[in-house]
Order: sequence, then structure tokens, then C-alpha cells
Amino acid sequence: MRQLVEAKVKPKSVKHISNGYPLLSKETIDLSGMTVEEGDILRLVDTQGNYLATAYYGIQNKGIGWVLTQKEQEKLDKTFFLQKISKAVGKRTYFYQAEDTTAFRVFNGEGDGIGGLIIDYFNGFYMVSWYSEGIYSFREDIYQALNEVVNVRGLYEKLRFNKNGQYIDQDDYVSGEKGEFPLIVLENGMKYAVDLNDGAMTGIFLDQREVRKALRDRYSEGKTVLNTFSYTGAFSVAAALGGSLSTTSVDLAKRSLPKTIEQFAVNEIDYEAQDIKVMNVFDYFRYADRKDIKFDVVVLDPPSFARTKKMTFSSAKDYPKLLKDTLKITNDDGLIIASTNNASFNMQKFKKLIDKAFKEANTRYKIIETHQLPKDFTVPNNFPEFNYLKVVFIKLMN
Ligand code: SAH
Repeated sequence: MRQLVEAKVKPKSVKHISNGYPLLSKETIDLSGMTVEEGDILRLVDTQGNYLATAYYGIQNKGIGWVLTQKEQEKLDKTFFLQKISKAVGKRTYFYQAEDTTAFRVFNGEGDGIGGLIIDYFNGFYMVSWYSEGIYSFREDIYQALNEVVNVRGLYEKLRFNKNGQYIDQDDYVSGEKGEFPLIVLENGMKYAVDLNDGAMTGIFLDQREVRKALRDRYSEGKTVLNTFSYTGAFSVAAALGGSLSTTSVDLAKRSLPKTIEQFAVNEIDYEAQDIKVMNVFDYFRYADRKDIKFDVVVLDPPSFARTKKMTFSSAKDYPKLLKDTLKITNDDGLIIASTNNASFNMQKFKKLIDKAFKEANTRYKIIETHQLPKDFTVPNNFPEFNYLKVVFIKLMN
């Protein structure tokens, strides 16, 4: 049974919480001497006991819970979830109506008022990602609410609440029609193959939609394009459809080869004419440098952290080195599309890392385009730190 627990917000966090900051951490509230369980409701009060907000307790990598309302009388029942979901759906009318895009985010956690809950749309199918056992305890109400607000063709879910928000391997099918995978979705007219029941990921990162479009529409025609950390080759597909001279996709995961072939194939691109390499990006840099291979456009989209047998990569620390390696294999007037989803630093800091790398490499550059999260990835008002995506288009000026 869900308990209602009164929890004192520590003095230094009172203002932050009353200003609407949604995320709770161990430093925000005092839970000493209390037994709190996943899914419990926290009545947050200041040191004098005045009401501040109502939250749920749920441990995930980012924190220990999320504020759901600042209205003392508001009940956290099905009606509550119904209102949140229908408001979120209402904000995405543009995407529901778009004929050339059939994959987008319907509900973006804290940005839509419920941290720890993500809902994505894939051509009629809904994919719900649960980031803590706490939010998962509201599953019945949330699924009923979702089914009342939208017409769900088939429902899938991903459980991401064991240690570090890792995916729990399971059959992800929940209800409705079972999908036949790969399911083909459209994004600005491009086709992408997705699988909603094949481990942690679906095959496409929806937050890069505008970046793929920019690459296709403005920077690919007649260019040689290198796509590093390419995963299923989504950027390579955009480049090829934009008329690139060639694409080279590099990822060390073995699965990236068949997955990338599939993405090309569903777009009727001759994948044999494209270069797909299963290897470490840093080894590829050395190989290309040795062979004097250079590219017009290079996409850099590394994970925030990665560990291989030989090395660890942390974008906060190693991005300048990654850029310097990239410069060696980029043409003098080339373009580097540098992306990071590391939430621990903001756009300003990212631009500083870029500047550091280019200064050290003695190379002039101009930033010609920047992107953050697209509209469907709603971010809470006044808290830009939740806008984790940062993409900078860097034109070399040699
Ligand atoms: N750019 C991709 C998403 C990248 S996800 C897209 O738009 O879809 C990060 C990818 O980096 C994973 O597929 C992972 O296998 C790969 N990866 C991590 N470390 C790597 C390394 N050192 N060399 C090559 N690939 C790496």
C-alpha cells in the first residue's frame, strides 16, 4: 500500500522547490529516520511545516523522486494522469497531423509534468518507458488514462529501473495489436525501421530528428560523409537521401552492421555502395589518418560514457580530443556536426570544449547552426538544464 509521508525540504532547497523545480535528490529532502518505499507520496513541507509540493518517491539515476503538483488538494489519481496525458497529447497535434512524420515523443517526463515517465509514438504503437519502480506503481492508472486519451494500436513498455536506470530485459509487449517488426516509421519523409521488442533501444533516437533533416537538406549533396558512433546509421541514411557522394558509418557494436543495412534497404539505398565499419571509432581515426582519407562532413554523436577493453570515454572530459582527432580527417573547408547528450554540462560549456579543441589544433571555425531538443521533447519552464541535447554545426575556416 502506498503511504503518504511528510518530508521536510532542506532549507537551501525550499526556494527551488517552491519555484517549481521538479527533481528531488538526497540533498533536497530530509528522510532520516523514515521508511519510505517506491511509489510513496511525499508531502513536501518547509522547516515550519508549510506545504510546498507533492511528489512521488522513486529512485532512478537522476534522483530519488519527482514533484507532481504544487496544489495541496490535488489527488494523484487516474484523473490527474488523464489531465497530464491529454495536455501532452494536445501539444503534439502538429505531429499527429504530419503525414511525413509518424514517430515522435508524446510525453517527455518532467517536461510534461511527470518525471520518470516517457511515452513515444511509432506509427500507431505506443512505447512507455518507466524509469523507477515508484512511477511504475502508478502503471494501471496511467495505462487506463492513456487508452482514454488516444487510440492505442498496440502498447509496448520498457522497464528502466534496476541499478543506473538500465533496461530490464523482458518481453516488452503489453496490450493491443502485436507489432510486426521491423515497423517502418516516417521522419520528414525518411523511412526508419524500428523494433519495439528488441532490448533497450528501438533503432532510432527521436531527439535528433531536426539534425537529420538539416544534414539531409543542407549539408549532404555531393559530400563525403563520415558518421561516427553510428548505431543503426540513421544519420548515414539522411546523408544518402540528401545526395551524399558516399557515407561511412562506424560503430563497434556488431549489431550495427545488419541494422544499418536494414535502414538503407528500407529507403531503397544500395547499401553495398555505402561503407559500414564495425570498429572502434578511435581505431578508425588512426586508420583514416594513415591512409590519408578525408571527409567533407563528419557526424560525432558519442555516448556520454563508454567503456571498451582498451579505454574509457567520457564526453565531458574527452570531447576536445575527439574533435582534434576528427580535424585530422576532415577537409579544410569541411563541416563537423558535434553532438552530445551529456546532461552534466550545458550548451555554453559545450561551446567552450569546442573552442578549446580548435585553439589547440590551431584551426579557425565558425558555428553555423545549433540544435537542442525538438518541440516534442518538452522541457520544464525555467529549467533549461533538462534540455540535455546539444548539437553544434562547426564549419572549418582553413
Ligand atoms: N548516432 C547514433 C546514436 C549513437 S548511440 C544515432 O543517431 O542513431 C552510441 C553508439 O556508440 C552505440 O551504438 C555504441 O555501440 C557506439 N560506441 C560506443 N563507443 C564506441 C567506440 N569507441 N567506437 C565506436 N562505437 C562506439
